[in-house]
Amino acid sequence: MTRKQKIIQSAINNKIIDNNLTAIGIMDLDRLKLTVNDVYSAFPENFTHTFAVKANALVSVLASLRKYGMGVEVASPGELKISLAAGYSAQDIIFDSPAKTINDLRTCIKNDISLNIDNLQELARIDELMIEFPHTQSIIGFRVNPQIGSGDICSTSTATATSKFGYPLADNNNKQKLVQLYTQRPWLKSIHTHTGSQGCALELMAEGVKVITDLAEEINVTIGKQQIVRLDIGGGLPVNFASEEISPSFKTYADILETQVPILFSGKYQVKTEFGRAIVAKNGMIITRVEYTKSSGNRHIAITHAGAQILTRTAFLPKSWPLRITGFLPTGEQRTDSLSQVVATDVAGPCCFAGDLICNNQLLPKLEPDDYVMVHDTGGYYFSNHFDYNSLPRIGVFAVSGEDDNLKIHNIRKADSLADVLNKM
Ligand SMILES: *Cc1c(COP(=O)(O)O)cnc(C)c1O
Repeated sequence: MTRKQKIIQSAINNKIIDNNLTAIGIMDLDRLKLTVNDVYSAFPENFTHTFAVKANALVSVLASLRKYGMGVEVASPGELKISLAAGYSAQDIIFDSPAKTINDLRTCIKNDISLNIDNLQELARIDELMIEFPHTQSIIGFRVNPQIGSGDICSTSTATATSKFGYPLADNNNKQKLVQLYTQRPWLKSIHTHTGSQGCALELMAEGVKVITDLAEEINVTIGKQQIVRLDIGGGLPVNFASEEISPSFKTYADILETQVPILFSGKYQVKTEFGRAIVAKNGMIITRVEYTKSSGNRHIAITHAGAQILTRTAFLPKSWPLRITGFLPTGEQRTDSLSQVVATDVAGPCCFAGDLICNNQLLPKLEPDDYVMVHDTGGYYFSNHFDYNSLPRIGVFAVSGEDDNLKIHNIRKADSLADVLNKM
């Protein structure tokens, strides 16, 4: 039996899932630790690794990542609050929102939280604040858009010519201007780019990193000393949603980076990464119950409780964000093609619009009422994506850890029933 089959068995044996269950998310903390170990072993010691909190804003997941050695990248008061609750302190946090208010900026600078400046208007605000707080320990960088083009998914590509993020390096004489900005500001010690995310080729990501690394070298040469000490190479690694295989691996990315930008591996710079999805996606899963089945126009339709409310990207952009599904009998045994006939299936969610599907026309062993459906690789940007835990009463979240044959499951975010909600009023 695979670990995932054991997880569903264990959830049934522990009565976490039964016929009252609608949908839950489960994070596998042991696998998460292995992933973080993979990150650390792929890169040399001058690299530090932060986690983009938006990919999984759950206190106990962040607390685990902190224990495993990662810092955090946040972009909102809510993410900051969750990170502090997970035990992070100011030095481990970097604030990266493109829409920081003057108070956000003051709070960061006053409390030694590092940040990356998005644009010239923000730079003007920081100039004022540096007069007010000259001794801040915040490490401040400028976010640069190398404008190297888009990956396959436009909405998650950050380095297009017209991207909303960062300072567009290739426009006009912006590059020259940037060199000057650094020369005039000894406190600008870092440079940031974010070139990746789902749909981007690793070579394209590395090209963006090369652009800002060359720029850092040029700025340092112009200034005559190494003012830029940190390179912040945001940009998440794409994730393989098509099978259990972890591909690309962190090691593959590290090898490509080393080939294209060898100086990163020389120890000359502190290099900071910001991975999100690749840390958590494959270490989380959704389990939901089939409430009803029907046949419509020769299509087998299974209605479950997981749809656009927790699988938002997939419901609205199914071609960009396809997910894998496995069916299980109420006993926890996997529905295989030797148990049931394989039929063209839509697995649907509970929301009241037709596109609310987890998968469309997929060949699956025929699902029956009270079966469970596991939606794989959903540890990032799915069930964890509701930053206010009070707003989503039905989705409980659990953490699993331990040896395959001795799994422990515990609740990390409570799911309220309708009755609980009424009782609170
Ligand atoms: C979202 C984000 C990341 C992580 O992106 P993933 O695709 O989840 O890996 C990294 N850095 C910044 C600045 C981000 O906004």
